[in-house]
This record gives sequence, structure tokens and C-alpha cells, in this order.
Amino acid sequence: MSAMPEAYRAALERAMVHATDWLASVPDRPVRPKVDADQVAASLATILPDGATDPADVVDELAALAEPGLMAIQSGRFYGWVMGGTLPAAMAADWLVSAWDQNTGLRFATPAAAAIEESAAAWLLDLLHLPASSDVGFTTGATTANFVGLAAGRQYLMDEAGWDLQALGLSGAPRITTFAGRERHAAVDLALRYLGLGACVPVDADHEGRILPAALAAAMDEQPGPSLVCLQAGNLHSGSFDPMEEAVAVAHDRGAWVHVDGAFGLWAAVSPKLRGRLAGVEGADSWATDAHKTLNVPYDCGLAIVASPEALRRAFSVHTSYFIATDAGPGDPFEKVPELSRRARGIPVWAALRQLGRHGVIAMVERLAANASALAEGLAAIPGVEVLNDVVFTQVSVSFGSDDRTHRVTQRLMAEGAVWMSGSSWHGREILRISVSNWSTDAGDVAASIAAVRGAVEAEPEA
Ligand SMILES: *Cc1c(COP(=O)(O)O)cnc(C)c1O
Repeated sequence: MSAMPEAYRAALERAMVHATDWLASVPDRPVRPKVDADQVAASLATILPDGATDPADVVDELAALAEPGLMAIQSGRFYGWVMGGTLPAAMAADWLVSAWDQNTGLRFATPAAAAIEESAAAWLLDLLHLPASSDVGFTTGATTANFVGLAAGRQYLMDEAGWDLQALGLSGAPRITTFAGRERHAAVDLALRYLGLGACVPVDADHEGRILPAALAAAMDEQPGPSLVCLQAGNLHSGSFDPMEEAVAVAHDRGAWVHVDGAFGLWAAVSPKLRGRLAGVEGADSWATDAHKTLNVPYDCGLAIVASPEALRRAFSVHTSYFIATDAGPGDPFEKVPELSRRARGIPVWAALRQLGRHGVIAMVERLAANASALAEGLAAIPGVEVLNDVVFTQVSVSFGSDDRTHRVTQRLMAEGAVWMSGSSWHGREILRISVSNWSTDAGDVAASIAAVRGAVEAEPEA
């Protein structure tokens, strides 16, 4: 006789208590972890016991060991890198995904997971104003989503050139040249590396990091032949968007496949107020974005969107005897991502969209951008603070004068723990970078964050 659900109940109930305790602690605890990884490792340094431990006790022990080393990424005052928090329905749906344990590769084997992901995909394409016939793959993040979009492009270009990529690989193949703006995200370089395409040709960008269409045209004319063009919707430092309409036209006029890295910035397309900033983005061939950033679903979830399902499925489908693939229609989930086996990570996306509704998604994205503007305005009013970018979306980059002072203010802020903002460098200067990506950030968080920066600035005068 199966012991279900009794084998699970006590452990899940303990997990529920620890999860709600953790969430309750977030508003008041320091945003930074209390200890570093070496200290956590030291507390874990025991040999694996020979005997078993009760599952509920494992959960208690795990929660106690982890707690000091947790970063409060769910805090409304966490602005590090570009990371979202978690919407309640998405978090709960993620728990169900684990309980259901659906290996989401085949439509016929896990029909609920496949259909719910298809539903989420259709909602996403509609919200983002992308072609409804596009395929959507649920990846681990935007790095893999970039990989997927560029893999589809590589497949398309090789097919066009009459080169059998599957049979012959890249050795001796026509050379594909990739063009991307100087301020592309490093994830693009990684994806190109995984694809064996080598380094991209870096194209000049303006002061906000936007690719210059004339420079793109000149670079492409210098190296004609099969080409990928990788544009950016959302610069890490400025939030800026490449001039999509013009750049897509330059690339398409020269026969290129156009991919857009819109890890967080593609979400601006949901908003009637912000959409104009990336007008023409729908003309690209593939897009990468994250759900675990702006949409605030739990890690990990990225979205690979490809206008031509054929190029995508040719790149990723595997036809062996044990796969009962559905050739027509929506296709199997495994035909759109690198993995055969994976969790149903699109289900939390469905739940997030269902919780917010169309108006709620738009309002959340607009609120993130408005909070970024409010932070920029508040910070600019502090003597000695310079906002370096045009705040067009969720990113704010600031300097506190000399590199040394900027570094000291940043270190102080992180040590104090009222906020978390990343130190970075941009255009040869040390900066403090703020990314507003958490759904829960409110006016109180914004005011407290400005006050925290003001305090650190006053405590760290220019030497
Ligand atoms: C975050 C980010 C990536 C990488 O995304 P992951 O989800 O971390 O893999 C790529 N491009 C841009 C612009 C990003 O902001």
C-alpha cells in the first residue's frame, strides 16, 4: 500500500512554515546575506551520515542552515543586477509543479503541462505584441533563450546556404558573421560560443548604449555573407533600447537573421506608454526574454520566441523511434528548447499572468519604470550624486564623483543592508547601478532607498 500522501505531508507542512517565516522576515531583515558562502559551507561541513533522516527534520535543518546565507532578493529594496521577486500565484504554482513532477517534453505524455504552457505562450505573444504564430520555448533563462533564438537563426542561414548542418556540422560550413552592439550583454557572447560561431563583430553604440544603424550598415557591408544581427532591448546600465525599426531594416536588407536580446527590456512592449521606445521590435526573427526578471516568477524561467517555428524545430527536434512527435500544430515542448527532460517551468508563468490579468501586467511594468524614475529624481537631488543615464525604463546608473568615492559609497550601502544595489563600471567609470525589477517595490521602499543612499553619501565624503 502506498504511503502517499503521508510520506510527504509532514515535510511539506514544515516547508510551508519555513517559507512563510522567510517571507515574513524579508521586510525587516538586512537585504544582504548575514554570512558569506564560506561561512555557510563551514556550517555544512559534516560527512554524509550513514543513516536516514526523517524528511520533516531534513527540511527544518535545511532552513536553519540556509537562513543566514540568504539574500533578500524578494525585498522591495533589492535592486541588484536585474532580478525580479516572485508573485504569490507564481510561487504557489511552482510548488505544484514540483508536486506534479511532470517531465514536460512530450505533449501526449504530460498534456496538462504542455497545454498550460501553450496557453501562457499565447498570452505572452499577445501581451508583447509579437506574431501570434511564433513558437515559444520555456528555457532556464535569457542566456539559454538567446542560445535558442541564435540556434534557430544559424539553422535558417545554413538551410538558405544549402548546407546540411545536422549531417556535416560547422566544419567547412559557410562562415556566419554575427553583428552586435558594443554594449551587448555577455550572455550573447556565451550563446555564440555554445553555438561555435566565434566572436561577434562589435558595432558602435551611442552614449546610452544604443547600436548605431549607420555603423551596423557599414560593418555588414564590409563583411557580406550569411549573418546574424543581435539587437538589444534593455541595456543593463541605461535600460535603453536599440533603434529597432532602423536596425531591423538595415539587417533584413542584407539578408540577415535578426535576434533581439530583451531579457528585461522586451517587457516594455506590453505598455502603451513605453512601447514606442522599441517600435519595430516585432519585425525581428527571434527574441529572448526572461520571466524570472520583469514578470516576477521564481527562478528559473526564460522565454525563447521564434517567428518561424520551422527554423526552431529543425534546430531542436530529435526524431528517434521512442519519440512520438506531433508534426503539425503546436509541436512538442522539447522541440523548442535544448532539454529533453525538464520541469514545467511555464506553469508559474501562466499563474503570474492569470493573477495580474492584462491590466495588471501593464500596470506592474509601468510601476517598475515609474519607480526607477522616482529613484533617479530623488538621487539627483542629493548633492554630489550624478545620474548618468536617461532613465527610459527600469535601470538607473549613478556616480558619486570620483571612482574611489563611488566605490566607497557602494560598499557602505551594501554593508548597511537597507538596500542592495550593484557596483559596476560603465564607459570607464565606477558606477552604482539600480535595477527596479521587483513587483513589490512601493513608494515607501523608494523613499527609504533614497534616504539610505543619502546617508551613505554623507558618510563617505570625497577624499
Ligand atoms: C539578465 C540578462 C541576460 C541573461 O539572462 P539570464 O536569465 O541571467 O540567463 C541577458 N541579457 C540581458 C540584457 C540581461 O539583462
